[in-house]
Amino acid sequence: MRKKLIAANWKMYKTPEQAAAFFRDFLPMVSDHTRDEIVVCPPYIDLQIAIEAARGSNVMIGAQNVHWEKEGAFTGEISVTMLGALGVTHVIIGHSERRQYFNETDDTVNRKLEIALENHLTPIVCVGEVLEEREAGLTEDVLRRQCMRAFNGISARKAAKLTVAYEPVWAIGTGKTATPEMAADAHSVIRHEAGKVFGDQFAENLRILYGGSVKPEICTALLCEEEIDGALVGGASLDPVSFTKIVKY
Ligand code: PEP
Repeated sequence: MRKKLIAANWKMYKTPEQAAAFFRDFLPMVSDHTRDEIVVCPPYIDLQIAIEAARGSNVMIGAQNVHWEKEGAFTGEISVTMLGALGVTHVIIGHSERRQYFNETDDTVNRKLEIALENHLTPIVCVGEVLEEREAGLTEDVLRRQCMRAFNGISARKAAKLTVAYEPVWAIGTGKTATPEMAADAHSVIRHEAGKVFGDQFAENLRILYGGSVKPEICTALLCEEEIDGALVGGASLDPVSFTKIVKY
């Protein structure tokens, strides 16, 4: 039985003051929630305040990106060492917005995954097809390629904390959601790929989240689907009441 993980991706929203206000409201509403794991991934600037706010609670804090080197002349970047020193436990890697706007490639995803795992962070690796690929019947091929390249050269032992998020790009921030059946089909492809690289037992235990316009009104059908091991939530995670409803689907 895989414990579900409900993760918030705040993207480029909330100042430290707004982040503190979120946690003031959110933490008491989920303090008794043990059924699922909860992670909030705020912008870098809010990490410290989020970690202080969530200390001793059942909410973990993640980053939205990380560099593939431990340190160096990489202006504007943040390393695994820096995240670890703050107390960050999770990191989103290869979000489609980073692939689309910031030249993230399957190769950089692979390098970031490797260093995150080496440094005991729980990576949430995002994969997913764009609308043209789905319409052309290429969804499986895209997912296979993204997984194969992301997992390249990584051993099952090292990958123990790996988490994958299936995020069809056409569903992110658009209000369109994959049906539970569509998500389950995509998750099976991802699980199969993971099985080929890491072995069947690993694949069986791998958590695969769904992301793409998850809202309180539609989250139950998605999260009750056996193949869906949690959610990566963008817009609906910015409001503590709405995110609580998703956590408690
Ligand atoms: C995301 O940012 O990963 C996401 C799924 O966003 P939204 O829920 O807003 O579609």
